[in-house]
Amino acid sequence: MEDLYREIILDHYRQPRNRHAIESPSCSADGSNPLCGDQVTVAVVVDGDRITEIGFSGQGCSISQASASMMTEYVRGRTVAEARAGVDAFQQMMTTGTVAGLEGFDDIDALVGVAKFPARVKCASLAWKTLEQALNEGGAPVTTPVTTDERNSNG
Ligand code: ZN
Repeated sequence: MEDLYREIILDHYRQPRNRHAIESPSCSADGSNPLCGDQVTVAVVVDGDRITEIGFSGQGCSISQASASMMTEYVRGRTVAEARAGVDAFQQMMTTGTVAGLEGFDDIDALVGVAKFPARVKCASLAWKTLEQALNEGGAPVTTPVTTDERNSNG
């Protein structure tokens, strides 16, 4: 089972889906995870209440980039409400360590093992938080929260 999951993650990392620029996005946001050096930009075209196009760019570890690829594949063609439900389901999966089992989450469920590694949860969550930020007004940059014990002494 874990080997299958690893295969799915590597496949998305090596052949990312929807990794392209969007010419005139309705909204976009930049996200970064300084702990790992991951960066993701998410741009979406919203037509009515439906996300008709989504693209991402970025760099970073395999978990962050595979998760971004999976996120775009899930979101494309869905309503904004469904996309938000997906963000919630993903966060829930990262918190509880159990597969979301949401319709359309087949590949995404492969990231469930990440829940065991808090530092990697930030990698996996980055694209989803960035999507959420893009869908919220403004699309201000998002940085995955750094908890107190991970900060160095300059704070
Ligand atoms: Zn990472």
